[in-house]
Amino acid sequence: MTIAERLIARLREAGLDLPEGSRLVRIYPSPAMRNEGAWSWSAFGPGGRELQIGSQYPMAELLAAERLDTMQVMSGAVGTDTDVFPAMACQRCQGTAVTACRICRTQLCGPCLTDHHHEGYGTPTSN
Ligand SMILES: [Zn+2]
Ligand SMILES: [Zn+2]
Repeated sequence: MTIAERLIARLREAGLDLPEGSRLVRIYPSPAMRNEGAWSWSAFGPGGRELQIGSQYPMAELLAAERLDTMQVMSGAVGTDTDVFPAMACQRCQGTAVTACRICRTQLCGPCLTDHHHEGYGTPTSN
């Protein structure tokens, strides 16, 4: 299977609606567009219908991720797009991490972050 076919299978496992015959098309955004979060691929259904599913992460990077997460993002007149990204795992409990500690860069979920302290540095804040 190609990288795109394997990623389609992963996306279906993650609960995304990709009908039979869907394909993922690579996009080559300029570096400036990439900084603004431009997608590096986008999904098309049978007949070339835009599925409004894509990611700024390259397909290979998503395939390498242990878990995928998705987020609905508003995209002007056409409604919502589904953004795919690698889920970060909390390094203490393996839950879904929401942030990384500013001091030691450990990825943590909300409850673990609350318990996470560094002697002499005070409590890391979540913002
Ligand atoms: Zn945790
Ligand atoms: Zn820390």
